[in-house]
Parts: sequence; C-alpha cells; structure tokens
Amino acid sequence: MDNKKIIQAGKIAQEVKKYIKPLIKKNSSLLEIAEKIENKIVELGGKPAFPTNLSINEIAAHYTPSYNDETLAHGLLKVDFGAHMDGWASDTAFSIDLENSNENKKLIEASEKALQKAEETITKGVTTNEIGKFIQEAIENYGFSPIINLSGHQIDQYSLHSGLNIPNIDDRRNIKIHPGLYAIEPFATNGNGKVKDGKLSGIYSLIDYRNIRNPDAREILEYIAEEYQQLPFCSRWIIKKFGTRAIIALKQLEQNGNLHQYAQLVESGKGIVAQTENTVLIEENGKKTITTKES
Ligand code: MN
Ligand code: MN
Repeated sequence: MDNKKIIQAGKIAQEVKKYIKPLIKKNSSLLEIAEKIENKIVELGGKPAFPTNLSINEIAAHYTPSYNDETLAHGLLKVDFGAHMDGWASDTAFSIDLENSNENKKLIEASEKALQKAEETITKGVTTNEIGKFIQEAIENYGFSPIINLSGHQIDQYSLHSGLNIPNIDDRRNIKIHPGLYAIEPFATNGNGKVKDGKLSGIYSLIDYRNIRNPDAREILEYIAEEYQQLPFCSRWIIKKFGTRAIIALKQLEQNGNLHQYAQLVESGKGIVAQTENTVLIEENGKKTITTKES
C-alpha cells in the first residue's frame, strides 16, 4: 500500500467533485461532462482510474459516453469517477436529480444516508455483512430497496475490484474487514432491487495479452497494456488516441479474447436508481474517507 499516493488520488477526486457539481445542468452534454471530469483529473496530476460513468435513471452503472455521444443529461444522473496515482485508485460517485422530482430526491437521500451509516460502521474487525445490514436498513427506511447484486469492493494497485466485497444487504457471510482500501457504494431503487445486463457499454478491460496479427490491433493492444494495465478503459479514449480505425481493432481484440467488454447494468424492474460512493482507507488503528474533506 502506498498511502501517500492513495491520499493524493482521493484529494484529486474531491477537487473534481467540487469543480463538476455546479457545471451539471439538465440537458448538459454527457460527453462534455465526462471529458471535463477526465481532463480535470489529468490537470491535477492524476489519471482517470476508469471511464467516467454517467448513468441515467434505470441504468445503475456502466454507461460511459461514446466518442460521438449526443445524450443530454436528464432524470436521475449518477456521476461515478476516480483518479489513480501509479495504479492506486480513488472511486467516488454522487447522484443528482435533474427533474425536480421528490421521488428522485428521496432515492438520492436514501443512498447518501446508507453510505454515511456504512462509513461510520466500517473499521478493522467489523464484518462486511454488518456494514451491509446498515446499508439495507437505511435504504428500506425510505421505503426503497438496495440493489442486492451490486456491491462495494476492496481496491488494490491497478485492480479496482479485488479482495473483499461490501454487500448492500446483510449477506450473513461474516467476513471481517482488515486494513486496506475499500469503496462503499450503496444503490437505492424503487424497482426490484436487482440489476441485469443491458446493452454493451464500450467499457473494456484487458484480460489476455495473447498475440494478434492485425497491425492496428497489435499496436492498440500494446498501448492498452502499457497505459491501463488491468484498469478499465473505453472506446472513446482509444478512438481519441488512434482515430476511428480503432473501432474495428477493438472488435478484433474482443473476438480474439484479449479484451472483455462490460455490459451496462440496468435495474430489472425498470426502477430509478440512485448511487453514492466513497473510498475509505482502513488502517490498523483508524480510518480515513479519502474522497471527502476531513471535517
Ligand atoms: Mn464507482
Ligand atoms: Mn466502485
């Protein structure tokens, strides 16, 4: 663990959050929001830990704008991003209601309250299901459901999801938290409380460095391995770097088994979904939420 780099990745996320919140309005371009977030991360000395997720309403996660995306912000928008320093990542999300809807506001409040309870509870030795229980209770108190097949996660260098999961329900597994870096991310919905795979997202990660003959694909594979290692990236980034010839190359890399493409995650009952997320550093004696300012 490199705590200095972890704290720095958290500080960048804090700054970006402060910068982007006031810029997001109904009908803002999602593509512009994503680029502003990612450019700001670089300006502050980090790199995006994964493509900015800007998921609307029943899409719970894994929507990132394509290179020519014309979608405008509306509904309940979840803004999920992170920075990394040398592979040590922060991961944070907030939700905004762009419709002046009481239901949306309540969903957001439920996910925020659940995260607050979880942050208060998490510490070395506490079980992950105890944290999940508080998340579930907080969301159910609002009359909503937590999403049971999405969870928080431990973070390791160049590995966003590694080690322990932090469930959004009491899964009764009795696994104890040990020192490390953890993202906690309650999702609240007025739907079924479960996500299923939707359309393909244009978000990928490298799964196998096996050889590929096509020179474009080869060149792009080498770039991906060097630039992102195991961290997720998106077609928008690759097209920006290599032009539209990258579209066919990405398809070939996927078919050849080099890349995995993630699906969008959609609420199975078409419910509206709110998400709030912070990254917490757990130490032997203490903890620190790295993605929010110390009070
Ligand atoms: Mn996230
Ligand atoms: Mn996360």
